[in-house]
Amino acid sequence: MTRVETAFQPTEMRSSRPSPRRLALLGATGSIGRQVCDLVERHPDRFTLHVLVAGSDAAALEAVARRHPEAHALLAHAAGADPIRAGRAIDEAVSDPEVDLVVVAAAGSDALAPTLAALDAGKDIALATKEVLVMAGELVRERMRRHGSQIFPIDSEHSAIWQCLWGEHHRAIRRLILTGSGGPFLRRPLESLETVTIAEALTHPRWKMGPKITVDSATMMNKGLEVIEAHFLFDVPYGAIDVVVHPQSVVHSMVEFVDGSIKAQLGIPDMHLPIAVALSFPERLDGVTPAPDLAALGQLSFEALDGVRYPAVALAREAGERGGTAPAVLNAANEEAVALFLKGQRRFVDIIPSVRAAIEAAQPTDDLTLEAAIAADRWARTHVRASAGGTSPVRSKLPA
Ligand code: MG
Repeated sequence: MTRVETAFQPTEMRSSRPSPRRLALLGATGSIGRQVCDLVERHPDRFTLHVLVAGSDAAALEAVARRHPEAHALLAHAAGADPIRAGRAIDEAVSDPEVDLVVVAAAGSDALAPTLAALDAGKDIALATKEVLVMAGELVRERMRRHGSQIFPIDSEHSAIWQCLWGEHHRAIRRLILTGSGGPFLRRPLESLETVTIAEALTHPRWKMGPKITVDSATMMNKGLEVIEAHFLFDVPYGAIDVVVHPQSVVHSMVEFVDGSIKAQLGIPDMHLPIAVALSFPERLDGVTPAPDLAALGQLSFEALDGVRYPAVALAREAGERGGTAPAVLNAANEEAVALFLKGQRRFVDIIPSVRAAIEAAQPTDDLTLEAAIAADRWARTHVRASAGGTSPVRSKLPA
């Protein structure tokens, strides 16, 4: 009989956490990282920043480090620095015995190696970067089992599911129901998606997030990646993970149980809340956000996912079910296609066909190692850049 309290392992709640909890923060200058810093500054009795890691923005990292002089600040991609040495320094910093919790909010593939290093050091992880599980979910699970570490999800949907599962038995789960707002193009005529501009794709109706994830919300690839993330976090088969469109983004996700009950977690769309839940587990912080005013909202609506408008979800599910390196190819091809779109070099409607083309052209590898995941990631990026949208069935219909 397994009781689900942590994402992977049924362990007893650890109530005697050191206070203030010492955090290592990967991705200190990004959207999630800034909100983590916010919460730390609002609760200096509960948290301190012990390690700060950013990608390449030295000035932004310095600004954060100035407010947290006790933290050891590191840049992953400093100009002229040896990337291997920088990587090793980051792995060592997150594994420091002084660190109580590693918050992973670094961009995509940058997060993978330090997450594995932290797990190997037996650290618990608060995970915002879903790409870690999409690229290497099987590896991550194996490291956790070996070292007895845990993952607390920050992604709002997974935080909702996690909260719904506290105190429940794993065998009582019938299905997980991920909600998605549908992004800015839920009602836009399908034909007009061909003319979507960068600015339109970056205007999310509910959430304020970084540019890459905002575009992923518009294609709903974000939800596809979240299906894979949920599969690995909660050990539930793909067939028991559903997606429902919920434009108000108040119900953050749900769990259906074998008796026919559904539990949901509600909150205003503000990432401070799932971040706070992951940082303070098993306790809750006071007054993180206002609670939603249900009478003022009037109604919450739900609708079936339109597979024609959002082919990304089925594509991601397919890659997840294929397993091995297929999810890593999906993730990298998508990152690259979105980057090209944001540079004005690819149309919005070319993003998902580019990803599909990469998955279809990839050599399937069933055996997932870190090296295989990284090789698949590199291959997929090159494939998307080289194909320049030429394989897109939508583009081929356009006049030359
Ligand atoms: Mg999410």
